[in-house]
Order: sequence, then C-alpha cells, then structure tokens
Amino acid sequence: MVTVDVEEERKEIIRRYRKLLRKAKPFLKDNDAKLIKKAFYTSLEAHRGMRRKSGEPYIYHPLEVAQICVDEIGLGTTSIVAALLHDVVEDTEIELDEIEKDFGPKVAKITDGLTKISGVFDHGSSQQAENFRKMLLTLSEDVRVILVKLADRLHNMRTLDSMPRHKQLKIISETIYLYAPLAHRLGLYVIKSELEDLWLKYTEPEVYNEVAAKIDESKISRNRFIRSFLNPVLDEMNKSGLKYEFKGRPKSIHSIWNKMKKQNIPFEEVYDLFAIRITLDTDKETEKAICWHVYSIVTDFYKPNPDRLRDWISTPKANGYESLHTTVMSKTGKWVEVQIRTKRMDEIAEKGYAAHWKYKDSPSGSHESGLEQWISHVREMLEQNDTNAIEFVDDFRANLFNDEVFVFTPKGELKTLPYGATALDFAFDIHTEVGAKCLGAKVNNKLVPINHELKNGDQVEILTSSKQKPNEDWLRFAVTSKAKSKIKDTLKESKKESAIDGKEIVKRKLKQMKVPFDGDVANQLRAFFDEKTVTDFYYKVGKGLIDPSEIKKYKDLKTDKIKSERPRKSDRAFIDDIKKVGTSEKDILLIGEDMDRVDYKLSKCCNPIPGDDVFGFVTVNEGIKVHRTTCPNAPELLSNHGNRVVKSKWMSQQQTSFLAHMRIIGTDRVGLIRDVTDIISRELKVNMRSMTIDTETGIFDGHIMLYVNSTKHLDQLIKKLEKVPGVMKVTRHDESSQNDE
Ligand code: MN
Repeated sequence: MVTVDVEEERKEIIRRYRKLLRKAKPFLKDNDAKLIKKAFYTSLEAHRGMRRKSGEPYIYHPLEVAQICVDEIGLGTTSIVAALLHDVVEDTEIELDEIEKDFGPKVAKITDGLTKISGVFDHGSSQQAENFRKMLLTLSEDVRVILVKLADRLHNMRTLDSMPRHKQLKIISETIYLYAPLAHRLGLYVIKSELEDLWLKYTEPEVYNEVAAKIDESKISRNRFIRSFLNPVLDEMNKSGLKYEFKGRPKSIHSIWNKMKKQNIPFEEVYDLFAIRITLDTDKETEKAICWHVYSIVTDFYKPNPDRLRDWISTPKANGYESLHTTVMSKTGKWVEVQIRTKRMDEIAEKGYAAHWKYKDSPSGSHESGLEQWISHVREMLEQNDTNAIEFVDDFRANLFNDEVFVFTPKGELKTLPYGATALDFAFDIHTEVGAKCLGAKVNNKLVPINHELKNGDQVEILTSSKQKPNEDWLRFAVTSKAKSKIKDTLKESKKESAIDGKEIVKRKLKQMKVPFDGDVANQLRAFFDEKTVTDFYYKVGKGLIDPSEIKKYKDLKTDKIKSERPRKSDRAFIDDIKKVGTSEKDILLIGEDMDRVDYKLSKCCNPIPGDDVFGFVTVNEGIKVHRTTCPNAPELLSNHGNRVVKSKWMSQQQTSFLAHMRIIGTDRVGLIRDVTDIISRELKVNMRSMTIDTETGIFDGHIMLYVNSTKHLDQLIKKLEKVPGVMKVTRHDESSQNDE
C-alpha cells in the first residue's frame, strides 16, 4: 500500500483547481469565478474520501473533465460547473434539486443528463442502447450534455491503465462504437483521433507501440522534408505580405494503422503519413480569396492531383469543417497533402461544435446550417420513439459514419444527405408525404427509379403518384434513418388496416357458416392457419394471402376431427399453376448434408426459382421450406434459428416453369406495352399470368407475373426487355410484404 501524504495531496488538489481557473479566466464574466469555486468545493466535499481505481483522490477526475471542457472543447462556465458536479448526484448523497437550487436549472439539467447516462451501462446491452438514446435526447435540448460526456469519456480513456481488463474492454468498445464517431460527427477532430488511438492502444498494444515509435523516429527527417518543401512557397507568401503559421501534422496512429491494414502495406509505404497545414491569419471577409491565393502559390511549384482537391470552404462538411485540401507531387516524387485554412477555420476544425457556435453570430455565417441540420435530424429520429433502442443506435451509428453527398432541389436549394442516399431518401427529406408517394425522380432531367443513388451536384425532382404506397422493399432502397423509420411507420399502419379488413371478412364468413365469433374461435383459427398472432391471421386474410373459403375447412376439420396435414391453399395453387405449364418436377432441389431429395415447399416470401442461392428451413408444421438467401426474412431465420437451417442446392435447371414477379419501369410512350408483351409472349415463348400497369405522371410502372425456367432464363428476358426503347429498369420483384417461415 502506498502511504498518502494528506497535506501534499490537499495542495495538489488546490493546484489543479487553480490551473482550471487560470485556463477559464479569459471567458469568465461577473459571477462566474464564484460559481466555479462553489461547484469545486461542493464536489470536493461530496467526493471526500473517495478514490479512483488508481488510488488518486476522486476529485482529480471531475477537475480533469472540467479542464478538458475548457481547453480542448472550448466550453464555458455552465459546462465547467456541470463537469465538476457530473458524478455528484450519481455517486454521493447530494440530490438533483439541491444542485438546481445552488447552481440553477441549466446546470441541473446537464448534470441530470449525465447522471442518467452513467451507471446504466453496467446492465444489459439493450439497456445501454436505451441509455444512449436518452443521452441523445438531450442533444436537441442542450448539446453540452454530450460534450461534457465526451470529456468524461476521454478522461476515463486516458486513465484506463488502472482498470481491470474486462472493464477496459467494455469501455474501449463503447468508445469505438459510439463515442469516437459521435465526436467525429460533432467535429471534435482532435478528441476523436485521441479516442481512436487509445482504443488501438488497449486493443493491439504492440501495433500501437510500433507505429508510435516509427512516427517518432521519422520526426527529424519529416521536419527537414517539410522545410525544404515549403521554402519556395513561404518565400512567395512573404512577398504577398501574408500572415501565417505552418506545421506538419502526422496522421493519427489509428488512421495510419487503418491504412496499413486496408492496403496491406508496411508503415514505410503509407504515403500520407502526415499533412502540411498552412493556417492563415486573415479577416473573415477576405478568407476565401486568400485561401485560394495560397492554393495557387502551392500549385505553381507543385503539380496537384486533380482527383484530390477538396473544397470544404465553399461547401463545409455537415459537422462544420472548413478547409481547402490539395495533394501535390513533391520534388522527391512523393505525394503530399497540403491543407489551407484560416485561424477561424482551424479552431472549428480542432474544437468543433463549441468553436463553431462561437462564430455563429458573425454576419456571413450562412453555412452554419450543416450541424444545426444534423441536430434537427437527430431530434426527428428521436421523436419516432417506437423504434427499439438497439435498432435506433445501429441506424444512428450508420449515419454517423457516412460521408455526405450534396444535392439540389429543382429550385437550387442545397440538401445534404448521407453518402449512398437514394432518390427515395431525398423524397423523404423533402417531406414525409412526398416520400410516401414517391414514384421515381428526375435526376438532372433524366428519369430514374426510386432506388437511384444520388451523386454530388445532382439536381433532383421527385415524381409522385397518389396511388403509390411504400412496401417492404423500400427499406432496402433508403439509407437515412428518417426515411426508414417513416417507411416502417407506414407499413405498420397499412398492416393494421389490412388486419381490420381481414377481421371483417372472417366475421362475415363465420356468420355464413353459423359459427358464433369470439376470442376462442379467433384463436383456433390462428392455430389452424399456423399464424403467430391473431392479428397476423387477420392481416393475411385482409391481404388475400389466406383464402376466406379456407375458413370453412377449419369447421370441417373441427367436425370431422380429421388430423391430416392441411396444405396451404396458396402453396397448392402455386404448385397447380406450375403443373399447368409444361412438365413439373419439383424434386430437383437437394437438401441437407447428404444432399438428399427431400420433400420441400418453396416459401412465398421470396419465390425461389432454380438457380437461386437458397437454404432450407425446418418449419413446425409444414416440413422444409426453401428460401432465397437474399430473402428479407433470411437474416432473422439464419441468425435466430440457425439450428433449423438445412443446406440446399439446386441440382440442375430442368424444364420446369416457375412463377416470377417482374417489375418494369420506364417512360410511357405509345406502343410501349405492346413492345413489352411482344417480347414476353412471342420472342421467348414465356407465359404471362398477370400484368398490371400504372402510367401516371409519365412513368410506366408495370408488374408482371410470368413463368420462367430458371434465373438464367429470367436474366435473358430482363436483358431483352431493358433494350426496349423507353424501358429504364427491369427488376425481379420479391413479394416480401409477408412473413412466411
Ligand atoms: Mn465521470
């Protein structure tokens, strides 16, 4: 045991507190110093006798967190006070209302936000997700909760050494999963890099040490290189009378390691180990012109790589980042990244939100909207509070990582969407109603389907139809959480409606059969049709997936007490349909480890046909059902019921016809339908079962059910159809709106 010199410790605590005050001093107004002092003594008193795992007095932690808030995030008094008190309610006797009484509602609110968050992480993972969501809820109220939380997390990461390994692992995984991306999204670049580096340090210590040592070793030669690289540039800048600073910034250990891993190369071969940064001292009014002036000087001496020019001055990133980046060829034959920015931009880049906020009320702050926009998006996401928390965190996280695309409305209004966003995302971004009725879009005046991926600079006009309705496929077409959650809402809504219709149908049918309707009967019907819930049963009746005439069989079965297996009407109809066309031989699928010929059924949710990648699934009442591996139900079945999955493979493509559902989208013109049907029926001798066509707003949207022999056959057909003038897209359409084991 270490003996503690109490007097010495007391002095050290006061020293640290004074250091905090000194750093905060430039911001302090009227009563601020007094308030900080009060918070410090409250915290000191409350945590008296408590020690961290390292043996240090506990008060070091809130002091350090407050210090990070000031120094590294640029926050002011309210946050300092909240940081000093952040563990008080959680860990000591002091209650929230006392904090409110002594320090005001703002501090109380932030402390409350931080209190809810900590501690709960010790429970199950969904609790953790729920908790994270709670924390984000405060983002829309007061972003400082998140900022202080990040400071808290950073200090905990810096002091991980004294933690037991299992706690380390838990803390670092939360950090890399959520906090580092969050810091990135808030533009806290420096904190994000440090969190990632610390994650690597505790995940792969050898790699971390090796890369760190190499960065250190190469420092002298790097500085020499930077000097000689910049010499002519700086001469020229001096002649123009520019005021500037420059430095060579090595990339973070984590990002270098990432490159080594991704490209499978040693440290020495990572070409962009560092970037040269020129920071200009200039007025807001002239900054853009001066940055481009410096760009022009740099590229007078060195040839730029045209693919690597990044102008985040004209269009800042959504997290507020502004800078001009170019990669040029140096005299030694190495590419060098040069970052050109002003002091103002630099502060925003390093400290993110707080600095951004500080400059917000400057007159030309028209592009402040990115981050605000993001925060309002988060708020919208949070308002749809029926998504489950894990799903929410996953969606949220996916959006954190995404880069952006910049696109325009027909009127030239700029919209920022995550990378990979589609026309459908754009539609939902405009308005939920526009999204829900989205039929397609015109991108740069060309007609595209709803799943068309948008690119930077695209001008997008959404086409709608009052008849259009979201279906489950749309979930795959959308990437933004906003669009996804709106689609889910509508699907749920329409499922409810179908269930209501279904219930009416069932009641009517039972009345005809003179069977009184009650809960018991409903439940027996559910069991008879092998549905999980009564609502599922009603839904399938309402949707026409269960033929109401089948309900009669339930009665027959009850009266006759026959316990034979009940084939599903829809499956039977399906098989009958196949038999009508050519020679049907359904035992061409081999199942199980021994690849036996076993009886199976094709699932309706994805209509597998020969050639598809498939798996078998052992159902409770209907033997083996075969699904496509791309079936929307596949992930759920494979991950949650893996023990019921059997290997399946098509043996060969025989002369058997299968029903496939195809969707054709194009621009409507006279004679298009005839051309399409001609190809289907005459050229390839395919039998069409049904066809529905919607030609509203000039878009031809056809759904065709037809019989094909195999995927190869279908592919041929699709290729032919795509060549028809006016046809834009032909897709195989999965009927995935039903959940069918
Ligand atoms: Mn803490």
